Amino acid sequence: MNKGLVNKIIPFSSVDGPGNRMAVFLQGCNFNCLYCHNPETIKRCDHCFDRCIKSCPNLSSPKALFMDVDEIVKEVKRVKSFISGITVSGGECMLQAEFLKELFVEIKNMELSIFVDTNGSVPFWENSELTALMDKAMVDMKAFLPEEHIGLTGMDNKNVLKNIEYLASIDKLYELRTVIVPDILDNYFNVDAISKLIAALNPDIRYKLIKYRPFGVRKELMISQIPSDNMMKELVQISRDNGCINIVVT
Ligand code: SF4
Repeated sequence: MNKGLVNKIIPFSSVDGPGNRMAVFLQGCNFNCLYCHNPETIKRCDHCFDRCIKSCPNLSSPKALFMDVDEIVKEVKRVKSFISGITVSGGECMLQAEFLKELFVEIKNMELSIFVDTNGSVPFWENSELTALMDKAMVDMKAFLPEEHIGLTGMDNKNVLKNIEYLASIDKLYELRTVIVPDILDNYFNVDAISKLIAALNPDIRYKLIKYRPFGVRKELMISQIPSDNMMKELVQISRDNGCINIVVT
């Protein structure tokens, strides 16, 4: 049986997909976003098999814990009556796709819904069993042009765009998310291009515009400020004018 490297489990969350959900955050990410709010979830190593240690030279989170599917299912069973499903997040959860596949089989047997919160870099079309088992995905679209995406995350967005189109084509795309970072990103261009893409794919797909907040971030990598309410209103209006009908600001 595969083991997953888990950063934390939140038994009840109302911000990780529809309804009340258990959120399982996996350790390890292939992006290194300048504004990452959970930088302790990025690094991972497989040296200390049971638990990462505080003195880890790889700077992985000391909280991360290897868990097998049965252990997570046990946690789900404790709260099953109070949740509508689980959301797997990270880090980048799709880097542990084999583990997720095994977990999803068990969660489906419990008749709970399964949402995947992803940076979109791992091809869903190459993980057909996992994709069939999950209900829907929430995908980050951090920047529209590859150059800006590379500058922000360290990786291009070719797979992100392909995943978005693929998931929309099989009706498994619940939400796209863009973090708005004043003075650093080309926010107006990004929202204009991304909202046009959503409207062309399916205007019902939710577009979540997230205000950058300078909490928990690595200030040595990037300094910005919380976008103004007026800026967020303008971005919502652009999305609406482009045909999006389900826009959320957080
Ligand atoms: S994809 Fe998410 S977890 Fe990974 S570095 Fe970016 S913000 Fe952090």
